[in-house]
Amino acid sequence: MVKFSFLGGAQEVGRSCFLVDDGEKYLLDCGVKLGPKETEYPLEPETNIDAIILSHAHLDHSGNIPFIFRKSSPLTYMTPPTLGLSRILWEDTLKIADIEKSDPVFSKIEIKRAEKYTFPLSYRKRTDLNENASVEFFDAGHILGSAITKLSLKNSTLVYTGDFMLNETRLHPGSDLKSLKNCDYLIIESTYGDRAHPDRKKTEKEFVEKVQDTVDRGGTALIPAFAIGRCQEIIDVFNEYSLDAEVFFDGMGQKASRVYRDNPAYLKKPKELKEALAKVNWIKKASMRKKALKNPAVIVTTAGMLQGGPVYQYLPKVYSDSNSGIYLTGFQVEGTPGRTLFETKKIAIENEAVEVRAEVKKFDFSAHSGKDELLKAIDLFNPKKIMLVHGDKEVMNSLKKEIKKKGFDVFTPKQGEELEL
Ligand SMILES: [Zn+2]
Ligand SMILES: [Zn+2]
Repeated sequence: MVKFSFLGGAQEVGRSCFLVDDGEKYLLDCGVKLGPKETEYPLEPETNIDAIILSHAHLDHSGNIPFIFRKSSPLTYMTPPTLGLSRILWEDTLKIADIEKSDPVFSKIEIKRAEKYTFPLSYRKRTDLNENASVEFFDAGHILGSAITKLSLKNSTLVYTGDFMLNETRLHPGSDLKSLKNCDYLIIESTYGDRAHPDRKKTEKEFVEKVQDTVDRGGTALIPAFAIGRCQEIIDVFNEYSLDAEVFFDGMGQKASRVYRDNPAYLKKPKELKEALAKVNWIKKASMRKKALKNPAVIVTTAGMLQGGPVYQYLPKVYSDSNSGIYLTGFQVEGTPGRTLFETKKIAIENEAVEVRAEVKKFDFSAHSGKDELLKAIDLFNPKKIMLVHGDKEVMNSLKKEIKKKGFDVFTPKQGEELEL
Protein backbone atom coordinates (compact mmCIF):
# COMPACT_ATOMS: atom_id res chain seq x y z
CA MET A 1 0.00 0.00 0.00
CA VAL A 2 1.16 3.51 -0.82
CA LYS A 3 -0.54 6.67 0.41
CA PHE A 4 -0.96 9.64 -1.93
CA SER A 5 -1.93 13.13 -0.74
CA PHE A 6 -3.05 15.71 -3.30
CA LEU A 7 -1.91 19.01 -1.81
CA GLY A 8 -2.50 21.04 -5.00
CA GLY A 9 -2.93 20.63 -8.75
CA ALA A 10 -5.92 18.34 -8.17
CA GLN A 11 -8.90 19.05 -10.46
CA GLU A 12 -7.15 22.29 -11.42
CA VAL A 13 -4.17 23.59 -13.39
CA GLY A 14 -1.69 25.23 -11.02
CA ARG A 15 0.11 24.69 -7.68
CA SER A 16 0.99 21.05 -8.46
CA CYS A 17 2.08 19.30 -5.24
CA PHE A 18 1.74 15.59 -4.42
CA LEU A 19 2.96 13.64 -1.42
CA VAL A 20 3.84 9.95 -1.82
CA ASP A 21 4.16 7.99 1.42
CA ASP A 22 5.33 4.38 1.65
CA GLY A 23 7.00 4.87 5.03
CA GLU A 24 9.46 7.31 3.46
CA LYS A 25 7.87 10.53 2.27
CA TYR A 26 8.47 12.02 -1.16
CA LEU A 27 7.14 15.33 -2.42
CA LEU A 28 6.52 15.51 -6.19
CA ASP A 29 6.64 19.19 -7.24
CA CYS A 30 5.56 22.13 -5.14
CA GLY A 31 4.16 24.95 -7.25
CA VAL A 32 1.97 28.01 -7.01
CA LYS A 33 -1.10 29.14 -8.90
CA LEU A 34 -0.93 32.69 -10.19
CA GLY A 35 -4.53 33.85 -10.16
CA PRO A 36 -5.74 37.09 -11.74
CA LYS A 37 -5.72 38.74 -8.30
CA GLU A 38 -3.62 36.69 -5.92
CA THR A 39 -1.24 33.76 -5.70
CA GLU A 40 -2.70 30.48 -4.43
CA TYR A 41 -0.50 27.97 -2.60
CA PRO A 42 -0.74 24.20 -2.13
CA LEU A 43 -1.56 22.77 1.30
CA GLU A 44 1.46 22.54 3.55
CA PRO A 45 2.64 18.94 4.04
CA GLU A 46 2.04 18.01 7.69
CA THR A 47 5.05 15.78 7.87
CA ASN A 48 8.79 15.79 7.43
CA ILE A 49 9.72 15.26 3.80
CA ASP A 50 12.53 12.80 3.04
CA ALA A 51 13.07 14.00 -0.53
CA ILE A 52 11.61 16.43 -3.06
CA ILE A 53 11.48 15.61 -6.77
CA LEU A 54 10.90 18.51 -9.17
CA SER A 55 9.63 17.70 -12.68
CA HIS A 56 10.39 21.07 -14.32
CA ALA A 57 10.88 24.77 -13.73
CA HIS A 58 7.45 26.24 -14.52
CA LEU A 59 6.08 28.15 -11.52
CA ASP A 60 3.02 25.94 -11.20
CA HIS A 61 5.48 23.14 -10.31
CA SER A 62 8.51 24.89 -8.76
CA GLY A 63 7.15 28.15 -7.30
CA ASN A 64 6.70 27.00 -3.70
CA ILE A 65 9.85 24.84 -3.32
CA PRO A 66 11.84 27.50 -1.37
CA PHE A 67 8.95 27.73 1.12
CA ILE A 68 9.60 24.10 2.18
CA PHE A 69 13.14 25.19 3.15
CA ARG A 70 11.81 27.53 5.82
CA LYS A 71 11.39 24.59 8.19
CA SER A 72 13.42 21.72 6.75
CA SER A 73 16.16 20.87 4.25
CA PRO A 74 15.22 17.76 2.28
CA LEU A 75 17.47 16.65 -0.57
CA THR A 76 15.85 17.87 -3.80
CA TYR A 77 16.25 16.14 -7.17
CA MET A 78 15.97 17.97 -10.49
CA THR A 79 17.83 18.21 -13.79
CA PRO A 80 20.60 20.87 -14.00
CA PRO A 81 18.62 23.13 -16.41
CA THR A 82 15.58 22.92 -14.12
CA LEU A 83 17.70 24.40 -11.35
CA GLY A 84 19.01 27.18 -13.62
CA LEU A 85 15.50 28.12 -14.79
CA SER A 86 13.84 27.76 -11.36
CA ARG A 87 16.42 30.09 -9.84
CA ILE A 88 15.42 32.81 -12.35
CA LEU A 89 11.73 32.39 -11.46
CA TRP A 90 12.30 32.28 -7.68
CA GLU A 91 14.37 35.47 -7.83
CA ASP A 92 11.73 37.09 -10.03
CA THR A 93 9.06 36.22 -7.42
CA LEU A 94 11.03 38.23 -4.85
CA LYS A 95 11.47 41.11 -7.31
CA ILE A 96 7.73 41.28 -8.04
CA ALA A 97 6.87 41.12 -4.31
CA ASP A 98 9.25 44.02 -3.77
CA ILE A 99 7.61 46.11 -6.52
CA GLU A 100 4.09 45.26 -5.28
CA LYS A 101 5.15 45.76 -1.65
CA SER A 102 3.72 42.37 -0.69
CA ASP A 103 5.22 39.75 1.64
CA PRO A 104 6.75 36.79 -0.21
CA VAL A 105 6.46 33.39 1.53
CA PHE A 106 10.23 32.86 1.25
CA SER A 107 13.38 34.98 1.07
CA LYS A 108 16.83 34.84 -0.53
CA ILE A 109 17.95 32.60 2.34
CA GLU A 110 15.49 29.86 1.41
CA ILE A 111 16.43 30.12 -2.28
CA LYS A 112 20.10 29.63 -1.34
CA ARG A 113 19.19 26.67 0.86
CA ALA A 114 17.08 25.07 -1.89
CA GLU A 115 20.04 25.41 -4.27
CA LYS A 116 22.45 23.98 -1.71
CA TYR A 117 20.30 20.89 -1.12
CA THR A 118 19.66 20.29 -4.82
CA PHE A 119 21.02 17.04 -6.23
CA PRO A 120 21.34 17.66 -10.00
CA LEU A 121 20.25 14.55 -11.86
CA SER A 122 20.46 14.11 -15.63
CA TYR A 123 18.12 11.98 -17.73
CA ARG A 124 18.52 8.19 -17.58
CA LYS A 125 20.82 8.17 -14.52
CA ARG A 126 19.13 6.11 -11.87
CA THR A 127 20.07 7.14 -8.34
CA ASP A 128 19.21 5.75 -4.90
CA LEU A 129 17.10 7.89 -2.57
CA ASN A 130 17.62 5.48 0.35
CA GLU A 131 18.14 1.71 0.68
CA ASN A 132 14.62 0.96 -0.54
CA ALA A 133 13.95 3.52 -3.23
CA SER A 134 15.48 5.04 -6.35
CA VAL A 135 14.61 7.74 -8.84
CA GLU A 136 15.27 8.11 -12.57
CA PHE A 137 14.38 10.98 -14.94
CA PHE A 138 13.36 10.71 -18.60
CA ASP A 139 13.00 13.59 -21.09
CA ALA A 140 9.40 14.86 -20.95
CA GLY A 141 9.74 17.00 -24.12
CA HIS A 142 7.85 19.89 -22.48
CA ILE A 143 10.52 22.55 -21.76
CA LEU A 144 14.30 22.56 -21.24
CA GLY A 145 15.15 19.99 -18.55
CA SER A 146 11.57 18.81 -18.04
CA ALA A 147 11.42 15.27 -16.70
CA ILE A 148 9.12 12.31 -16.37
CA THR A 149 9.92 10.68 -13.01
CA LYS A 150 10.19 6.97 -12.41
CA LEU A 151 10.15 6.32 -8.68
CA SER A 152 10.99 2.75 -7.67
CA LEU A 153 9.62 2.19 -4.16
CA LYS A 154 9.95 -0.76 -1.80
CA ASN A 155 7.34 -2.96 -3.51
CA SER A 156 6.08 -0.94 -6.42
CA THR A 157 6.94 1.56 -9.16
CA LEU A 158 5.38 4.94 -9.75
CA VAL A 159 5.54 7.10 -12.86
CA TYR A 160 4.82 10.82 -12.52
CA THR A 161 4.60 12.52 -15.91
CA GLY A 162 4.76 16.17 -14.80
CA ASP A 163 3.87 18.14 -17.93
CA PHE A 164 4.84 16.21 -21.04
CA MET A 165 4.75 16.58 -24.81
CA LEU A 166 4.74 13.25 -26.59
CA ASN A 167 5.25 14.69 -30.09
CA GLU A 168 8.38 16.49 -31.22
CA THR A 169 8.55 20.28 -31.44
CA ARG A 170 11.22 22.61 -32.84
CA LEU A 171 13.24 22.45 -29.62
CA HIS A 172 12.57 18.98 -28.19
CA PRO A 173 12.39 15.47 -29.61
CA GLY A 174 9.20 14.50 -27.71
CA SER A 175 8.88 12.40 -24.54
CA ASP A 176 11.28 9.51 -23.98
CA LEU A 177 8.91 6.76 -22.83
CA LYS A 178 10.72 3.64 -24.02
CA SER A 179 11.86 2.48 -20.57
CA LEU A 180 8.62 3.26 -18.77
CA LYS A 181 6.50 0.25 -19.67
CA ASN A 182 4.28 -1.38 -17.04
CA CYS A 183 4.23 0.62 -13.81
CA ASP A 184 2.02 0.11 -10.74
CA TYR A 185 0.95 3.71 -10.18
CA LEU A 186 0.66 6.52 -12.69
CA ILE A 187 0.15 10.19 -11.85
CA ILE A 188 -0.51 11.87 -15.19
CA GLU A 189 -1.27 15.42 -16.31
CA SER A 190 -4.56 15.95 -18.17
CA THR A 191 -4.42 19.60 -19.32
CA TYR A 192 -5.66 18.81 -22.85
CA GLY A 193 -7.48 15.58 -22.01
CA ASP A 194 -10.51 16.45 -24.15
CA ARG A 195 -9.01 17.78 -27.35
CA ALA A 196 -6.39 17.45 -30.05
CA HIS A 197 -3.82 20.06 -31.07
CA PRO A 198 -3.56 21.14 -34.71
CA ASP A 199 -0.60 19.85 -36.72
CA ARG A 200 2.54 21.58 -35.40
CA LYS A 201 4.26 22.19 -38.73
CA LYS A 202 1.06 23.69 -40.16
CA THR A 203 0.74 26.02 -37.15
CA GLU A 204 4.38 27.13 -37.53
CA LYS A 205 3.89 27.90 -41.22
CA GLU A 206 0.63 29.83 -40.73
CA PHE A 207 2.17 31.77 -37.87
CA VAL A 208 5.27 32.86 -39.82
CA GLU A 209 3.12 33.80 -42.84
CA LYS A 210 0.87 35.93 -40.66
CA VAL A 211 3.84 37.71 -39.06
CA GLN A 212 5.46 38.27 -42.47
CA ASP A 213 2.20 39.75 -43.86
CA THR A 214 1.93 42.13 -40.93
CA VAL A 215 5.44 43.48 -41.38
CA ASP A 216 5.01 43.68 -45.15
CA ARG A 217 1.92 45.85 -44.81
CA GLY A 218 3.90 48.22 -42.57
CA GLY A 219 2.76 47.07 -39.13
CA THR A 220 4.34 45.79 -35.93
CA ALA A 221 3.84 42.12 -35.07
CA LEU A 222 3.75 42.06 -31.26
CA ILE A 223 4.18 38.55 -29.91
CA PRO A 224 3.57 37.99 -26.21
CA ALA A 225 5.30 34.72 -25.28
CA PHE A 226 6.15 32.77 -22.12
CA ALA A 227 9.70 33.39 -20.91
CA ILE A 228 10.61 29.71 -20.66
CA GLY A 229 10.27 27.67 -23.80
CA ARG A 230 7.92 29.71 -25.94
CA CYS A 231 10.14 32.78 -26.60
CA GLN A 232 12.98 30.46 -27.64
CA GLU A 233 10.74 28.30 -29.82
CA ILE A 234 9.21 31.29 -31.62
CA ILE A 235 12.65 32.74 -32.39
CA ASP A 236 13.82 29.33 -33.61
CA VAL A 237 10.75 29.02 -35.86
CA PHE A 238 11.45 32.44 -37.42
CA ASN A 239 14.96 31.30 -38.27
CA GLU A 240 13.85 27.93 -39.64
CA TYR A 241 11.25 29.53 -41.95
CA SER A 242 13.58 32.41 -42.92
CA LEU A 243 11.31 35.23 -41.79
CA ASP A 244 12.32 38.39 -43.63
CA ALA A 245 11.98 41.03 -40.91
CA GLU A 246 13.83 42.66 -38.06
CA VAL A 247 13.08 40.81 -34.80
CA PHE A 248 13.43 42.38 -31.33
CA PHE A 249 13.55 40.29 -28.17
CA ASP A 250 12.60 41.75 -24.78
CA GLY A 251 11.82 40.57 -21.24
CA MET A 252 12.64 37.69 -18.93
CA GLY A 253 12.89 35.30 -21.88
CA GLN A 254 16.40 36.70 -22.35
CA LYS A 255 17.61 35.29 -19.02
CA ALA A 256 15.93 31.95 -19.71
CA SER A 257 17.55 31.86 -23.17
CA ARG A 258 21.01 31.93 -21.58
CA VAL A 259 20.10 28.75 -19.67
CA TYR A 260 18.89 27.23 -22.96
CA ARG A 261 22.17 28.18 -24.63
CA ASP A 262 24.22 26.74 -21.76
CA ASN A 263 22.51 23.32 -21.83
CA PRO A 264 22.85 22.09 -25.43
CA ALA A 265 22.55 18.43 -24.40
CA TYR A 266 18.91 19.08 -23.44
CA LEU A 267 17.92 20.39 -26.88
CA LYS A 268 17.11 18.69 -30.18
CA LYS A 269 19.11 21.10 -32.37
CA PRO A 270 21.14 23.35 -30.06
CA LYS A 271 23.24 24.86 -32.86
CA GLU A 272 20.15 26.08 -34.70
CA LEU A 273 18.71 27.70 -31.58
CA LYS A 274 22.01 29.37 -30.75
CA GLU A 275 22.20 30.75 -34.27
CA ALA A 276 18.57 31.96 -34.15
CA LEU A 277 19.07 33.70 -30.79
CA ALA A 278 22.20 35.42 -32.09
CA LYS A 279 20.29 36.85 -35.08
CA VAL A 280 17.62 38.75 -33.12
CA ASN A 281 18.08 42.15 -31.46
CA TRP A 282 18.17 41.80 -27.68
CA ILE A 283 16.57 44.86 -26.08
CA LYS A 284 19.12 45.94 -23.49
CA LYS A 285 17.89 49.43 -22.62
CA ALA A 286 14.70 51.47 -22.83
CA SER A 287 15.86 53.56 -25.81
CA MET A 288 16.01 50.42 -27.95
CA ARG A 289 12.27 49.99 -27.48
CA LYS A 290 11.63 53.23 -29.36
CA LYS A 291 13.77 51.92 -32.19
CA ALA A 292 11.80 48.66 -32.23
CA LEU A 293 8.56 50.60 -32.74
CA LYS A 294 9.90 53.03 -35.31
CA ASN A 295 9.80 50.79 -38.39
CA PRO A 296 7.78 47.69 -39.29
CA ALA A 297 9.22 44.88 -37.14
CA VAL A 298 8.56 41.88 -34.94
CA ILE A 299 8.71 42.09 -31.13
CA VAL A 300 8.84 38.93 -28.99
CA THR A 301 8.34 39.69 -25.31
CA THR A 302 6.82 38.71 -21.97
CA ALA A 303 4.33 38.34 -20.37
CA GLY A 304 2.75 35.56 -22.40
CA MET A 305 -0.73 36.20 -20.96
CA LEU A 306 -0.22 39.99 -20.73
CA GLN A 307 -0.22 40.02 -16.92
CA GLY A 308 2.49 42.69 -16.92
CA GLY A 309 6.05 42.93 -18.18
CA PRO A 310 7.64 44.86 -21.06
CA VAL A 311 4.79 44.00 -23.46
CA TYR A 312 3.10 47.07 -21.93
CA GLN A 313 5.92 49.24 -23.27
CA TYR A 314 4.70 48.38 -26.77
CA LEU A 315 0.93 47.96 -26.44
CA PRO A 316 0.07 51.71 -26.20
CA LYS A 317 1.46 52.23 -29.70
CA VAL A 318 0.40 48.94 -31.26
CA TYR A 319 -3.21 48.47 -30.12
CA SER A 320 -4.72 51.33 -32.18
CA ASP A 321 -2.92 50.52 -35.44
CA SER A 322 -4.98 48.38 -37.81
CA ASN A 323 -1.86 47.42 -39.78
CA SER A 324 -0.31 45.84 -36.69
CA GLY A 325 -1.09 42.53 -35.01
CA ILE A 326 -0.97 41.00 -31.53
CA TYR A 327 -0.36 37.29 -31.88
CA LEU A 328 -0.84 35.15 -28.78
CA THR A 329 1.25 31.99 -28.66
CA GLY A 330 0.13 30.12 -25.57
CA PHE A 331 -2.68 29.02 -23.29
CA GLN A 332 -4.55 32.05 -21.88
CA VAL A 333 -5.80 31.36 -18.34
CA GLU A 334 -9.28 32.62 -17.52
CA GLY A 335 -9.25 36.07 -15.95
CA THR A 336 -5.91 37.13 -17.49
CA PRO A 337 -5.68 40.22 -19.75
CA GLY A 338 -4.59 37.92 -22.60
CA ARG A 339 -7.80 35.91 -22.35
CA THR A 340 -9.87 39.11 -22.21
CA LEU A 341 -8.07 40.50 -25.27
CA PHE A 342 -8.69 37.30 -27.21
CA GLU A 343 -12.38 37.11 -26.30
CA THR A 344 -13.39 40.79 -26.39
CA LYS A 345 -10.65 42.62 -28.34
CA LYS A 346 -10.25 44.95 -25.38
CA ILE A 347 -7.19 45.66 -23.26
CA ALA A 348 -6.50 47.88 -20.25
CA ILE A 349 -3.91 50.58 -20.97
CA GLU A 350 -3.12 52.62 -17.86
CA ASN A 351 -6.24 51.27 -16.14
CA GLU A 352 -8.53 52.20 -18.98
CA ALA A 353 -10.17 49.55 -21.17
CA VAL A 354 -9.61 50.37 -24.82
CA GLU A 355 -10.86 48.83 -28.06
CA VAL A 356 -8.02 47.12 -29.94
CA ARG A 357 -7.81 47.92 -33.67
CA ALA A 358 -4.76 45.80 -34.32
CA GLU A 359 -5.40 42.26 -35.48
CA VAL A 360 -5.66 39.72 -32.62
CA LYS A 361 -5.02 36.04 -33.25
CA LYS A 362 -4.00 33.02 -31.21
CA PHE A 363 -1.70 30.21 -32.38
CA ASP A 364 -1.62 26.82 -30.68
CA PHE A 365 2.03 26.21 -29.80
CA SER A 366 1.13 23.96 -26.88
CA ALA A 367 3.87 22.05 -25.05
CA HIS A 368 1.39 19.53 -23.65
CA SER A 369 0.17 16.24 -25.08
CA GLY A 370 -3.32 16.26 -26.57
CA LYS A 371 -5.98 13.66 -25.80
CA ASP A 372 -4.75 11.01 -28.25
CA GLU A 373 -1.16 11.29 -27.00
CA LEU A 374 -2.30 11.00 -23.37
CA LEU A 375 -4.20 7.81 -24.17
CA LYS A 376 -1.27 6.44 -26.16
CA ALA A 377 1.09 7.08 -23.25
CA ILE A 378 -1.30 5.41 -20.80
CA ASP A 379 -1.39 2.28 -22.98
CA LEU A 380 2.39 2.17 -22.85
CA PHE A 381 2.69 2.81 -19.09
CA ASN A 382 0.04 0.12 -18.63
CA PRO A 383 -0.45 1.06 -14.96
CA LYS A 384 -2.51 -0.76 -12.33
CA LYS A 385 -3.85 2.54 -10.91
CA ILE A 386 -4.10 5.93 -12.63
CA MET A 387 -4.43 9.29 -10.89
CA LEU A 388 -5.35 12.26 -13.09
CA VAL A 389 -3.97 15.67 -12.08
CA HIS A 390 -3.17 19.08 -13.66
CA GLY A 391 -6.46 19.57 -15.52
CA ASP A 392 -9.80 21.32 -15.24
CA LYS A 393 -12.53 19.19 -13.69
CA GLU A 394 -14.69 18.83 -16.83
CA VAL A 395 -11.67 17.98 -18.96
CA MET A 396 -10.60 15.34 -16.44
CA ASN A 397 -14.04 13.75 -16.31
CA SER A 398 -14.11 13.45 -20.08
CA LEU A 399 -10.63 11.86 -20.12
CA LYS A 400 -11.57 9.58 -17.23
CA LYS A 401 -14.44 8.10 -19.28
CA GLU A 402 -12.08 7.34 -22.18
CA ILE A 403 -9.56 5.69 -19.86
CA LYS A 404 -12.25 3.60 -18.15
CA LYS A 405 -13.37 2.31 -21.55
CA LYS A 406 -9.89 0.83 -21.89
CA GLY A 407 -10.41 -1.08 -18.64
CA PHE A 408 -8.02 0.87 -16.38
CA ASP A 409 -8.63 1.80 -12.75
CA VAL A 410 -8.66 5.62 -12.70
CA PHE A 411 -9.06 8.32 -10.02
CA THR A 412 -9.60 12.10 -10.17
CA PRO A 413 -8.74 13.15 -6.60
CA LYS A 414 -9.85 16.48 -5.20
CA GLN A 415 -7.65 19.13 -3.57
CA GLY A 416 -6.64 17.84 -0.12
CA GLU A 417 -7.81 14.28 -0.80
CA GLU A 418 -5.80 11.24 0.32
CA LEU A 419 -5.78 7.92 -1.49
CA GLU A 420 -4.42 4.66 -0.15
CA LEU A 421 -3.82 2.28 -3.02
ZN1 LIG B 1 4.87 23.20 -17.46
ZN1 LIG C 1 2.16 22.77 -15.41
